[in-house]
Amino acid sequence: MRRFPNRAAPSYGMGMAGKPTPMMEQYLALKREAGDALLFYRMGDFFELFFDDARIAAGVLDIALTSRGEHGGEPVPMCGVPVHSAEGYLARLIKGGCRVAIAEQTETPDEAKERAKREGKPVSKALVARDIVRFVTAGTLTEEALLEPRRANLLVAIAPVRDAIGLASCDISTGRMELEECAPDRLDAALARLGASEVVAPEDWEPNSEDVIARPRADFRSEDGEARLKDLHGVATLDGLGDFTRPMLAAAGGLIAYLDHAGRGQLPFLLPPVARGSGAHLAMDAATRTSLEILAAQNGGREGSLIACVDRCATGAGARQLAEDLSAPLADLGAVEERLAAVHHFHADPLLRADLRAILRQAPDIGRALGRIVAGRGSPRDLGQIRDGLSEARRVRDMLSQSADLPPLLERMLGALGGHGALVDHLSRALVPSPPTERSQGGFIAEGYDHALDALRETSGNARRAIAALEAKYREETETASLKIKHNKVLGYFIEVPTKHGDKLMAPDSGFAHRQTMAGAVRFNSVGLHEEASRIAEAGAHALAAEDAHFEQLVGEVCTDREAIAATAAALARIDVSAALAERAVEGDWSRPEMLDEPCLEVTGGRHPVVEQALAKAGERFVANDCTLGQDDRLWLIGGPNMGGKSTFLRQNALIMLLAQAGSFVPATSARIGLADRLFSRVGASDNLARGRSTFMVEMVETAAILSQATDRSFVILDEVGRGTSTYDGMALAWAVVEAVHEQLACRCLFATHYHELSRLADTCDALSLHHVRAREWKGDLVLLHELAKGAADRSYGLSVAKLAGVPAPVIKRAKAVLDKLEKGRAETGGLAAGLGDLPLFAASVEAAGEQDDGLGALIDAIDVDALSPREALEKLYELKAQAAERKV
Ligand code: ATP
Repeated sequence: MRRFPNRAAPSYGMGMAGKPTPMMEQYLALKREAGDALLFYRMGDFFELFFDDARIAAGVLDIALTSRGEHGGEPVPMCGVPVHSAEGYLARLIKGGCRVAIAEQTETPDEAKERAKREGKPVSKALVARDIVRFVTAGTLTEEALLEPRRANLLVAIAPVRDAIGLASCDISTGRMELEECAPDRLDAALARLGASEVVAPEDWEPNSEDVIARPRADFRSEDGEARLKDLHGVATLDGLGDFTRPMLAAAGGLIAYLDHAGRGQLPFLLPPVARGSGAHLAMDAATRTSLEILAAQNGGREGSLIACVDRCATGAGARQLAEDLSAPLADLGAVEERLAAVHHFHADPLLRADLRAILRQAPDIGRALGRIVAGRGSPRDLGQIRDGLSEARRVRDMLSQSADLPPLLERMLGALGGHGALVDHLSRALVPSPPTERSQGGFIAEGYDHALDALRETSGNARRAIAALEAKYREETETASLKIKHNKVLGYFIEVPTKHGDKLMAPDSGFAHRQTMAGAVRFNSVGLHEEASRIAEAGAHALAAEDAHFEQLVGEVCTDREAIAATAAALARIDVSAALAERAVEGDWSRPEMLDEPCLEVTGGRHPVVEQALAKAGERFVANDCTLGQDDRLWLIGGPNMGGKSTFLRQNALIMLLAQAGSFVPATSARIGLADRLFSRVGASDNLARGRSTFMVEMVETAAILSQATDRSFVILDEVGRGTSTYDGMALAWAVVEAVHEQLACRCLFATHYHELSRLADTCDALSLHHVRAREWKGDLVLLHELAKGAADRSYGLSVAKLAGVPAPVIKRAKAVLDKLEKGRAETGGLAAGLGDLPLFAASVEAAGEQDDGLGALIDAIDVDALSPREALEKLYELKAQAAERKV
């Protein structure tokens, strides 16, 4: 737990029992405005929190909770964080699910006193005015330290309008904004795709949950949304920007109103919105995304996910673009081909790829720097990043434009990469090579840019030299070698000598004026020093003002160019993604898929990229498998042993399709892929107890969704559907689902199951074929080959897998007895459980097994260890092992 012991201990004017003090009144009024956001109340160099806010923050931040004063007869809980390191604390609070309202002092103590005088109030009790200047919330961040470089940070507004839902999403760190509309039952899927950091919705919206921030209904009016957008982008009509529906505009209204609220009237950077059509992307619902582990593995982390395995981007912006591409693969043949051609270009030219990636690695994140600048939170460093990023973009353009046969997508990017000549020149002349993050200290405008500024700097330089000369002079005059001229924030410049020399300077005619006596030293001033110090201070203040004015001017120029700069940032990100996917393809020996407009999926030598990578790390090899789904053979029923690789095979084909439609090469020797409109992935019996649904319920809800939504252009993988209930119920359901997929949906489907009985469906379903993953039994042990073969599986090998897993021998033996009976009963009567009646009880069978073991025990008992020579002992050991092997299952 951290404490901040150096903090002075003010009374905070929280007052003792009785009437609240003016400060308390001010605090409470601000807290009312902050609502459920934690109030950071600025007091000097600290942000202080009180009452419940203090309790919450102290818990999340692990800092000391203290108390000050009283309110209503109770001590007021308090904690605080230093202003200079507030960002780190804010980051942790936001991660911890909090929102924070920042209340700044809006006047200096002197100004407060002046105001009190004017208002005829007692000056000694003048209270500094404070105001909430900003709400810091997960979806409205722009600070580099609070954002993850490789993840977009989305704020989403939901607007239900009659029977449709409008969705507005934006990443204010880069200004991107998108509007879409969906049916209420598709909302979960859309939200899962967006993966927002923060969601807002009207307060009266029925399914409102704790994760959604309720906002006034009046914020979500489509007319207001339309008016705000027109105003923001200076257009008389939105027609030129896209085709926006009423729900979309209502959502845009809610989004902008929330941003307005969070920024206290200062709107962040928003690019013109893009309308997202419903058919333009491969649709995937939330369950499919989770099951395919696209952006996060099952445990919620990035490791083990598809993106972690694919991402070789050189820049954060590229990684964010790739995440978006994988979250929303395309469903338009031309667009997919364009992306593939760009990847191909870099794949075929390793030198170009390497050179380009080397440049990209140097390129700063100009999208986010621009976001901060436009939001009014930019720093000199951000300007430097824009300068450097734009010049890197020009280098990328020069390099690409020399490359022959540039594919159309890259050709289009060239236009966005240049064109900032004047701005780059200006920023280069104006700024020092590495401008600081702190604007208030100055020092970021380059020498030679402004002669007046140079002159001011020279003046203070001369004065500093003059002070050094004064120091030498005073030492000589006072014959005090230890005399020093020092500087601190409170006193400014002063002369200091050790106490024993103090008297010399104290003499009335010494020319020194006493200022302060310390424990071991005495401090003085002199007319000469005062003059030089004033020159420094004056020149410094003028220089700072001059730098500030230049800063504003440069920020203005960047803001004027904002849309073009954002387009450059987007082009760099797209190029980075293409080159990175090419890099990944070379690394993993992936190939360019042939994309078709017919429902087929023909993959030769396909691999699961994530499993393959994990196996390679362990020094093992992944067994590649083919998949050939077509019009006449579109449903594969896949059986075989547990752990045989069925799930892996299903998922690898779904991932291959997803990667291809995202514009990537695929982990296969070759692939012909018919574009899909929807992708579904379901695993039987996955619990979602957190949402209050049992294993089987989840399975059925998800299956129902597929049956109602899949089309003949969809691709469905179903893994052990029906597993979560009794054998007969499960099998019957699996049977009916396969039939429905085959007859009604007529989509491409891979269906993994342990129910051998389903293989009979091959007799009636002509586009269904049987496959299995191969396994062999060798010397009583199971060998999994992970190889797919045609035909039904002969059996499940469940007991062998259980044995591999270390289930005790008596249990395996007992299970085998039960299985034999069951299978016999089934063969004779057709009834699964028939014939179980004469099965001996478990205890009896374990006892029988025990008796056998007693035999081995008797042999061991008979050994007289002391009487054995070492050689005899070894032979005995061989004998015992042989006996034991005979008794094995
Ligand atoms: P169950 O029926 O128990 O769900 P399954 O048949 O679905 O099993 P998977 O989960 O796909 O089996 O695979 C089990 C393990 O086998 C994987 O984690 C992986 O380590 C390995 N494996 C799967 N496929 C392959 C492959 N093609 N090549 C090499 N190893 C593989």
